Amino acid sequence: VYHPTRNFADTMLKRLGVEVEYYAPDVGAGIAALIKPNTKVVFTESPASNTFEVQDIPAIAKAAHAAGAIVMMDNTWATPLYFRPLDHGVDISIHAATKYPAGHSDVLLGTVSANESCWTHLYESFCTLGCCAGPDDVYQVLRGLRSMGVRLEHHQRSTLAIAFWLEGQKGVARVLHPALPSHPDHALWKRDFSGSSGIFSIVLAGGGQKQQHAFLDALRIFGLGYSWGGYESLAVPVWLGDRVVAKAPYEGPLIRLQIGLEDVDDLKADISRGLTAAAAA
Ligand SMILES: *Cc1c(COP(=O)(O)O)cnc(C)c1O
Repeated sequence: VYHPTRNFADTMLKRLGVEVEYYAPDVGAGIAALIKPNTKVVFTESPASNTFEVQDIPAIAKAAHAAGAIVMMDNTWATPLYFRPLDHGVDISIHAATKYPAGHSDVLLGTVSANESCWTHLYESFCTLGCCAGPDDVYQVLRGLRSMGVRLEHHQRSTLAIAFWLEGQKGVARVLHPALPSHPDHALWKRDFSGSSGIFSIVLAGGGQKQQHAFLDALRIFGLGYSWGGYESLAVPVWLGDRVVAKAPYEGPLIRLQIGLEDVDDLKADISRGLTAAAAA
């Protein structure tokens, strides 16, 4: 789960007396066994932040609804263009408009939408909390939306070219991108999603933080950046230390890459610099 979501659950929700339990991303219909009499919400995010596991959202939604719980989903990765949460049983769909909708890394905005059964409750909460977006931010996101479709097509094409290429590179143990046939959740992704965006991770073939940092320090085009979804390529070290589930043993350190709108060959050359530096570290 996106780290600030976990943080919100572990701090503010906890103080408000809300119990939170984390589930494995491959839980599917098995979520039924985790649902308790006081369970109100199943909060999903697919693919997962940083490790990109895909969840069986229709199966989770079916089990949750049968137990009287609602389903929320953070759909930031796919955007509504590549996954339509409400069509797959989700009640409340959440997006960081900061990412692809804005597209230029210069605005912070989020969106929440709901189906008919949750709408009144959502609208009432929105009014009560008084969380209004600033008009300039909204203007910038409305402008970004005009080109989001073509930007995403470009992100998708470049990212797939780089991800497939990375699978054959020395020093890379695994590429964590659900649109690759090698990904364990590829079939699930193919069933429910109509496209893929520009962010995924790689696992280096051995090493630790030293190799991870050497890779990042050698990059000249990729910037270091925790956000994503803009025009520029970014890389970050992935840290999974706070996870309680999905702590899969990986062959080496993880690096998350956001592929921007730059030339693919230039980006490959930059990644090669990183891999060479990691191997030499
Ligand atoms: C970035 C991100 C968000 C929220 O981002 P803001 O920068 O606060 O708009 C939410 N979910 C996911 C999965 C994200 O990557």
